Amino acid sequence: MPRPIRALINCTALQHNLSVVRRHAGQARVMAVVKADAYGHGLLRTAQALNSVEGFAVLELEAAVQLREAGFNQLILLLEGFFSAEELDVIDHYQLSTVIHSHEQLSLLLAHNKTKKPDIFLKINTGMNRLGFRPKEKNDIFNKIKQWCPDASITLMTHFSNADETLGIEQVNQQLSQFVPSLDKKVDDLPQTLANSAAILRYPATHADWVRPGIILYGVSPLPEKTGIELGLRPVMTLTSQIIAIQQLDSFDKVGYGGQFTADRPMRIGVVAAGYADGYPRHAPTGTPILVNGQRTRLVGRISMDMLTVDLNGISDAKVGSPVTLWGEGLPVEEIAKSAQTISYELLTALSPRVPTTSID
Ligand SMILES: *Cc1c(COP(=O)(O)O)cnc(C)c1O
Repeated sequence: MPRPIRALINCTALQHNLSVVRRHAGQARVMAVVKADAYGHGLLRTAQALNSVEGFAVLELEAAVQLREAGFNQLILLLEGFFSAEELDVIDHYQLSTVIHSHEQLSLLLAHNKTKKPDIFLKINTGMNRLGFRPKEKNDIFNKIKQWCPDASITLMTHFSNADETLGIEQVNQQLSQFVPSLDKKVDDLPQTLANSAAILRYPATHADWVRPGIILYGVSPLPEKTGIELGLRPVMTLTSQIIAIQQLDSFDKVGYGGQFTADRPMRIGVVAAGYADGYPRHAPTGTPILVNGQRTRLVGRISMDMLTVDLNGISDAKVGSPVTLWGEGLPVEEIAKSAQTISYELLTALSPRVPTTSID
């Protein structure tokens, strides 16, 4: 019997969440964002479950090649583009789509001997100030690319910095206004992609030709005021383990490293096979919710590398081998993120490779 921690991946929930995206996004084509090993859910299994999308977006060239070699013939976009001329050969060979966001990339592109029709996503910096060309450069860059390759297809792309916030509309509008007509119809008529998960939910005006959902596909809310469940999403990843030991404490006994938790009465403590080396956040404090035998209880004491400890008072049938849910079905990961003062994205993508993942339907 192996160590009992598992991440269960619900492929039906992925498909359900995609249908929620489609309901919001109407006619827009969907590019499923599967970077960071599909936010910790496993690249190939996630892509298989979402095979009806029109495109995938990744960061690493290796992931893009892996998708192509597995037989996915949709658009596959590299979100940060390429880092060398050699990578451009691979992009050409596998007919991958690439962002270009910098003059360095533009120079490499224009010097490249392509063999196939290139598919370029021109990233425009509309106010996030991370990646992209200035809005007024887009006509010039468009013309340079068309000179290099008249049949290159070009899509304009930008990314919002505040779409998740309840009061983010001003910044979203400010960024949208950067896409004003450029007085060149060829540029103004280019297809566009703007919206991440939060913008898909909050701002229909941003849906354009392609939407780029990430976190909502995994059943998690990008909005601070709502959980995934409230948005009609279903959690895809459930992180589970078991109780592997039980300790009976007297009043004033302490638990774990630093003796951070002191029992204020006699209590039973369960030791769970899950720790920060599995990706459980070390900063989750005493009181963070957790399910034992499907019943809600709380963490007590510090998270160790391989174990954590829970309050078993009130869960009288709990014993060694009792199932534990750390997040997922019945316990939204948003709650754990909030308690640990981080965001769900970080928890999902920090799942350790040592945790086995299993697909369920
Ligand atoms: C990660 C990413 C997304 C997806 O963001 P979510 O908030 O997870 O929907 C979309 N676009 C770009 C450029 C990204 O890097």
